Formats: sequence, C-alpha cells, structure tokens
Amino acid sequence: MRALTTVPLSANTLAVSELPDPTPGEGELLVDGIAVGVCGTDREIARGDYGWAPPGEERLVLGHESLGRVREAPSGSGFAAGDLVVGVVRRPDPEPCGACAHGEFDMCRNGKYTEHGIKEIHGFCSEQWTCEAEYAVKLDPRLEQVGMLLEPTTVVTKAWEQVERIGARAWFEPKSVLVTGAGPIGLLAALLGMQRGLDVHVLDMVTEGPKPQLVKDLGATYHHDDILTVTDKVRPDIVIEATGVGPVIFGALANTASYGIVVLTGVSSGGRELPVDTGALNRSIVLENDAVVGSVNANLRHYADGAAALAKADPDWLRRLVTRRVPLADFAEAFEAQKDDVKVAITLS
Ligand SMILES: [Zn+2]
Repeated sequence: MRALTTVPLSANTLAVSELPDPTPGEGELLVDGIAVGVCGTDREIARGDYGWAPPGEERLVLGHESLGRVREAPSGSGFAAGDLVVGVVRRPDPEPCGACAHGEFDMCRNGKYTEHGIKEIHGFCSEQWTCEAEYAVKLDPRLEQVGMLLEPTTVVTKAWEQVERIGARAWFEPKSVLVTGAGPIGLLAALLGMQRGLDVHVLDMVTEGPKPQLVKDLGATYHHDDILTVTDKVRPDIVIEATGVGPVIFGALANTASYGIVVLTGVSSGGRELPVDTGALNRSIVLENDAVVGSVNANLRHYADGAAALAKADPDWLRRLVTRRVPLADFAEAFEAQKDDVKVAITLS
C-alpha cells in the first residue's frame, strides 16, 4: 500500500512510500483510508521542525486527522465492515502518569504519550491502517465527505468542556462568546457555540474568501476590526482563542465581561516581545474573577462529543470547510498554503 511518509526533523523529505499492507493485531480494526486533513502541525513536521519516527525507524507515516471505512472488525468490537471511523491521535504514556491512568491522556503530566502521525506511532495518511477498537470512533454515515473534521472538532469540544467546568465554580449563564481566528478550529468552535444557543462573534483579519460567509451562514457575527474594538462592542463572557497572536490574546484577556473565561488553543512561536501593562491585566483578572486556561488535544469523551456535534451540524456547511481535496499522488499541493484555504484534505481512495 502507499503512504505519505517523512523523515522527522529533515526538511523536504516528504514522499509517497510503498509499505507492506498492515495486519490487524488482536482487538484491532483494519481500515481503508478515505482521507486525512492537513493542519499546521503537519506543515511543521514537513518543514523538519517537529515529529518523531517510531523507535528504530527512519520514516514516519504522516496524518492525524483521519477518516476511513472499516474493512475488517473483530466480533464483539462494536464495529462492522463498512462503518465510517476515525482513529484517536494520542495514546497514554506507558508508565502511566495519573492522568493517563484515568483515561485523561490529553492531560498527560510526563509528556511520554505517543501520537499517531506526530510522535512515535505511524499516522493515518495511508491506503490502509489499523486501530485498536477502543481507540476508534464511529461516525454518522452522512459524514463520509467531512469526517476528517472530527479531530479538530475534538480540540474544540475539549475547549468547551473547559469553559463549562470552569464556569461551574459559581453561577454561570453565559450569553456571548468571541472566537478569535476563523480557521478550522475557530469555525468549529463557533459552530459549537451556536449549538449551545450563545450569541457568537468571530474575529479574523480577512475580508474576502469563504470565512466571513461561513461565519454568517452559521448565524454568527463576523468581525475584522482590531481586538479592542470588538471586545468593547461584544464584552464576551467567553473567549475561545485560536490565533496564537500576542496582541489578540492580551486584548482578549483584558476585556472580557466580568467572570470572563478565556481558553487559549493557539500555539504561538516564541521570540516576539510585546509591551503589556501587566499590572492592569492582573487587576482586571483579579477584580472580575476571570479565568484563563490553556487547552490541547482530546480524550475519548471529547471524541464522542465531537462526533455528536458533527452529526447535528448542517452537512453542507461542514463540506464548505474542506476547501481543497488533493489526491495522495499530488500531496505537495496540500502543503502549499493557498488563498481561501480553510481545511485542506489528502484523499486516499
Ligand atoms: Zn501520562
């Protein structure tokens, strides 16, 4: 079978490799790959900035935003041939730490977890793959075109869970949410905000391309002003931050409504300094009982919540998030950023 592979930490080593067909182990599904989504992490790995091959191997199969169809399933696994499935990205560390021992491997404390397509386990960008049944998630059959959006959706179902758990420390009836960044994470965060009946606002820089209309078609409000203008107008109870851009983050932190909750999901590159009035920022966070939390990755319950959220969403709106579909042979195109990209997918069948 063919798979998209790379030598981690070596730039320009992406290639379609011929690998032996995988054989499912005990309790594992054999899956025909349909597509994988490509994200910033994949581009970092492709540039040679990040990633780990499995121990003793030179190359890593890429792809963590999976979608496939079950070819063979062990009896009693809850899966059958033909089911649409997604493989969970992370596996608990072998030790395991306390969080991993409790199934919360997204909160791993020792960093020794492994991740398909990123850290020490092969990814899903191959014509066939295997997956332990307990780490496979069944999707509604109507998600055949868009199921590769589940993994980014799990990142936002976890972020929303953080909001709800932190909010529950006192009386909490939020009305408005500001999502910063209208990439796939931001748009999916906005979708989940609409599903919760909130007044949803999305801030991004662009004025053209598909993003403003995707926001409007959700019933949310699109903004492209600077962060302070938008926070003055909206006074958000909740901010889901998906840009990783310093001035946006600090603008959001300082200008929530009282009891504001900010969830940071964007990863910034370091090395940029920004003048910040730390005294005023501290004052606003303390005097308003504000909370700020970082959130990354997702565990099994976030996958289940994500699959349910996608099944409820308008399938045409979800389809419009996948703005380009590139066959495996043309993989290089999927790694070139193009104007008007939202989510780019590599198709495997
Ligand atoms: Zn752990």
